[in-house]
Amino acid sequence: MGGTEQEFVKQAFDTNWVAPLGPNVDGFEGDLQHYTGSAHAAALSSGTAGIHLALIMLDVQPGDYVICQSLTFSATANPIAYLGAIPVFIDSEPQTWNMSPTALETALKKLTAKGQKPKAILPVHLYGMPAMMPEIMAIAEKYDVPIVEDAAEALGSEINGRRCGTFGKLSILSFNGNKIITTSGGGALLSDDEAMIQKARFLATQARDPAPHYQHSHIGYNYRMSNVLAGIGRGQMQVLPERISQRRANFDFYNQLLENVQGIRFLPEPQGFFSNRWLTTILVDPNKTGGTTREDIRLALEAQNIESRPLWKPMHLQPVFQHYPYYGGTVAEKLFDNGLCLPSGSNMTDADRQRVARVLRQMF
Ligand SMILES: *Cc1c(COP(=O)(O)O)cnc(C)c1O
Repeated sequence: MGGTEQEFVKQAFDTNWVAPLGPNVDGFEGDLQHYTGSAHAAALSSGTAGIHLALIMLDVQPGDYVICQSLTFSATANPIAYLGAIPVFIDSEPQTWNMSPTALETALKKLTAKGQKPKAILPVHLYGMPAMMPEIMAIAEKYDVPIVEDAAEALGSEINGRRCGTFGKLSILSFNGNKIITTSGGGALLSDDEAMIQKARFLATQARDPAPHYQHSHIGYNYRMSNVLAGIGRGQMQVLPERISQRRANFDFYNQLLENVQGIRFLPEPQGFFSNRWLTTILVDPNKTGGTTREDIRLALEAQNIESRPLWKPMHLQPVFQHYPYYGGTVAEKLFDNGLCLPSGSNMTDADRQRVARVLRQMF
């Protein structure tokens, strides 16, 4: 926490706005709009709820196809399944580790030729690194399929000065406990389309038609963010730039420590890209490290009670999703095999970083 969160929460208590709406919700939405440059924002109970609502907005029905980045956290793909739609998974490209524009185009070509035009494309900015949005957007436009941008891990990241959260027809953010800023749990849906955000707010508050009694002509959801948690969000927005600096400092530390080690690679920012470096990740090539694998490093850290984690396991390899269509090669799979997320918290002290460094120095 940054320090001012409690004041906003106290205001909620003092004014008795302990409800899924109120001045902190309005204020937090305004902060998000101002920061990202998106015209409209709806604060929600989670990022997953945001993806669910975005797909509903785009009229995703049972049996429809939705294209989704394979290398991601399962929350990107789960809402496709909630709606009974069919996910079509896409491989990564090596430059950002996100959705491969080439594999995306192959998928769109094949699906449209079969009369299975997808309802949406779901790219992700994994670990804070923006996906190749200019290329992905050009292909999406060519095939006339809207983008739902999963910016859950990328608040503060940008491409040529344009912030993540503004590239999709609809975009989502997450404020889960592990993200770069948090409301303990929460998310947001962003769009320049005011009617869509209004409809999302309506559906997120149980879809109550205007009437003195409870009247419903749509299935609703209970997906709004509470005014108490939005207070935490307002305080967190004040420290977001500092959080980004802290995360980027972690990256610089590990990069300097390991840049001369054979077989360890970091993910550089492509020209014009800015990553919030939510997590610092490395690729380990055992053919060049003299046999040391990603798993050797993870276990050596674990032996010192330091948690690290392999990169996210691609969705097309997950038992629950492996029977769905997949386009691409083995980029995502190799990233999973050789990639490691290093300890990356904003609150890591110099002593913490030195503790990690001692283990890594001993190995190399
Ligand atoms: C965290 C995360 C989500 C889900 O957000 P929640 O707020 O936890 O529901 C979705 N996609 C990605 C890539 C995430 O990392």
